[in-house]
Amino acid sequence: MKKVIVQKFGGTSVADTEKIKNIAKVVIKEKENGNDVVVVVSAMGHTTDHLVKMAKELTPNPSGREMDMLLSTGECVSIALLTMAIQAQGYDAISFNAMQVGIMTENIHSKARIVNIRTEKLRKNLEEGKIIVVAGFQGVTEDGEITTLGRGGSDTSAVALAAALNAERCDIYTDVEGVYTTDPRVVPNASKLDEVSYEEMLELAHAGANVLHPRSVETAKQFAVPMRVRSSFKLEDMGTLIVGVEKMELYRPVAGVAADLSQARIVVCDVPDRPGVAADLFTALAGENISVDMIIQSYARKVSNTNDIAFTVDSNDLSKTMAVLDKLKNEIGASDVKVDDEIAKVSIVGAGMIDRPGIASTMFATLAKLGVNIKMISTSEIKISCLVDKSDAQKCVKALHTVFNLESDVIADVKGDLPDV
Ligand code: ASP
Ligand code: MG
Repeated sequence: MKKVIVQKFGGTSVADTEKIKNIAKVVIKEKENGNDVVVVVSAMGHTTDHLVKMAKELTPNPSGREMDMLLSTGECVSIALLTMAIQAQGYDAISFNAMQVGIMTENIHSKARIVNIRTEKLRKNLEEGKIIVVAGFQGVTEDGEITTLGRGGSDTSAVALAAALNAERCDIYTDVEGVYTTDPRVVPNASKLDEVSYEEMLELAHAGANVLHPRSVETAKQFAVPMRVRSSFKLEDMGTLIVGVEKMELYRPVAGVAADLSQARIVVCDVPDRPGVAADLFTALAGENISVDMIIQSYARKVSNTNDIAFTVDSNDLSKTMAVLDKLKNEIGASDVKVDDEIAKVSIVGAGMIDRPGIASTMFATLAKLGVNIKMISTSEIKISCLVDKSDAQKCVKALHTVFNLESDVIADVKGDLPDV
């Protein structure tokens, strides 16, 4: 049996028909390498943003179902056009939307998860020698309802297809050359990583590095799908390989620095210190499908017997969150709810920080030197995040990138010793 390669092209790669013609060549080249090729595409250029804008012009709260009906159309345009472009070059190709393939999802609008992908139709068409072009970002429920996977979700469609087809590799083609130590627009001498582990990439993606949809990395990790992020304009460059940590040689404590500017902090003040309160609060938020990121509960004040509970949510979920809290505030006996959305989460990520002391202190000392106040701290085994004022985010990223030796001219010979701050 031939090897299957899944290729995914984002909105910028299919922004106009010239670019689509170019992508058709990239697809054909992979086919000519002797592989079976399944291509996943996003909507052209800023189509999805434009559709969102039109919906908002009609109503501030469009229904989830109609929003998914609307947004799923973007990808349908690109699959048909790319397939025509491939056919025009003399190759046999066919496009499918999610319903035709059977990309089955849970019954949740705007951020559904894929539960299963039917492969019969794909296999049959591959056997017939066809190149298959599948609409990313969309899915279908058991009842035949159209869903979408969340903004940027085509990456996840691609990896899930790669897992279902047991593909050799999933190549995510984009307009950057790979995964960088930080955003090159903020730090011009950021360096491209040749390899990064699923774990690090997952943390980087959640920390605000906008290269990949975090769920695509989760899926790749779960099914051990090797993923590559590479440029559709520079084919000779192999980009960044994302693989299991066991396949990597760790030499650097920190692999990357990221800033997430789309978070809001909420503090629920004077919550009675008794069992069940946190459960009530976060169950109510989960019930509205709001994911919470950092959570901090303060040390209980003896006199009043209360805590403050602070947490962060995506700014897009802020109004939903406030609606939940307005109802809940009195029920749980909190005195007040405070919101701050002028914040940013700055994170350092690296599988090499496990069991290596001094990383957190270096991070805090670096921010202290800049005179930046840290509002919240959270950690995982391989990540440290600090919540800071939005206006401080850029300088924090720059300083951390330098202090952890991530610049392109030094990354080659870093052996992992921490610099002095
Ligand atoms: N077109 C969708 C979006 O803009 C999905 C994607 O690009 O991955 O979010
Ligand atoms: Mg994307």
